[in-house]
Amino acid sequence: MKITVAGAGYVGLVTSAGLAELGHSITCIDIEKEKIDMLQNGLSPIYEPGLELLIKKNLRNGQLKFTMSPDQAYSAADIIFIAVGTPEEKDGSVDLKYIHVVSHTIAHYIKKDVIVCTKSTVPVGTNELIKQIIQSRKSTSINAEVVSNPEFLREGSAVLDFFQGDRIVIGADNPEAATIMEQIYLPLKIPIIKTDIKSAEMIKYTSNAFLATKISFINEIANLCEKVGANIEEVAYGIGYDKRIGHEFLKAGIGYGGSCFPKDTRALVQLAGNVKYPFELLEAAIKVNNHQQSLPVLKAKELLGSLKNKRVAILGLAFKPDTDDVREAASLIIIKELLEEGALVRAYDPIAIPNAKKLLGNSIEYAYNLHYALYEADFAIIVTEWEQIKHVRLDIFQTYMKEPIVIDGRNCYSLEEIEKYPITYLSIGRQGVYKGRPKDEMSIINF
Ligand code: NAD
Repeated sequence: MKITVAGAGYVGLVTSAGLAELGHSITCIDIEKEKIDMLQNGLSPIYEPGLELLIKKNLRNGQLKFTMSPDQAYSAADIIFIAVGTPEEKDGSVDLKYIHVVSHTIAHYIKKDVIVCTKSTVPVGTNELIKQIIQSRKSTSINAEVVSNPEFLREGSAVLDFFQGDRIVIGADNPEAATIMEQIYLPLKIPIIKTDIKSAEMIKYTSNAFLATKISFINEIANLCEKVGANIEEVAYGIGYDKRIGHEFLKAGIGYGGSCFPKDTRALVQLAGNVKYPFELLEAAIKVNNHQQSLPVLKAKELLGSLKNKRVAILGLAFKPDTDDVREAASLIIIKELLEEGALVRAYDPIAIPNAKKLLGNSIEYAYNLHYALYEADFAIIVTEWEQIKHVRLDIFQTYMKEPIVIDGRNCYSLEEIEKYPITYLSIGRQGVYKGRPKDEMSIINF
């Protein structure tokens, strides 16, 4: 099979490298010259564990090619995957401009029967639109089938997810096209769900909306735990044993971010609104998440009063560990709020500083190691649970900071461990530890 992947981003690159590894002949096309130049030299423009190795290997053995030429990419392809971005409009709806452009380009360049398979996350009805665009432009002798194949990879473990995902969804109106797509994925031995196109489109949004709601739910319980003196970790552990609930995705913290959950949840609310269905539960989940991201700054103000000229160490900029992606990261919200309060921010991240710099410029200082970020800081906020942050020796807070005050947005450390050090430690859904002592001993401590 000659396969083309349109878009060399997180989804397109992992799909290209993964399919090449399965033995297919892959051409990956992008419109950004800088990306294609890097890729042709075997360098990945994004950080994703294991990806660069796969790209290098398959470039070398000729299974994988990168191009900017639509003629080279589309004219001889049997299957074309669309993996371009679907960002957000101001009102929360999906901006389909990249989908429009790529569909017109495909329609212009295809010269033989082809399956066009949409991996991008698109609202219900978009595959129908893609079909119309392609059918309106192509020669009538060419048969172009459109298939929905939503992507479920998680950044940070995307390569692993390609080979060991939970399921593959194929939405098609034409059973033959569905079978061809199924054959592509069969070697992976991952359950394949074949359905109609609209249901496939809906499965993607529903998965993300459900997971986002699960996070907001456990975060609401966490906030309640703090008020009643319970411990969210114990509560999550206890409820997770119920098979209907499960242990996954019950980690309380400062909420979800990234390139998918925020925009996809807002898009589903918008989609529901378009058909006059008020999706109140999802709206509440979004509201809870927005509040959750502001918790570290609220906690800091409650503890320290004014943050003006206070030096803050931000530990983690990426929206989650093992990625360089800062799209809709909690760090951006927290830093914005800190700057508005007049605080002085120094941020550390093992990988994401270059991407964060593009958005934050020189409004903050960047630290290329954890110790420098903490040096002389009045307090620290843990935003991303990188291994480098989770596994530090806890005495470094006391050694490097002006005052060892840590607000942990990801519950990285056990309270038992923290209590061995003279640290003031506020986390999510657990009782505060004040200079190494639990809250009930706090009355004797004067800040
Ligand atoms: P991305 O922004 O990293 O990559 C998109 C790429 O498409 C860019 O490199 C861009 O230059 C390229 N592009 C735009 N127009 C093009 C065209 N006409 N021809 C060729 N290339 C073109 O985006 P992403 O994170 O890979 O996401 C892609 C889609 O997959 C989105 O719809 C997203 O919602 C969805 N998705 C993303 C993830 C994720 O974790 N990133 C997971 C599941 C689904």
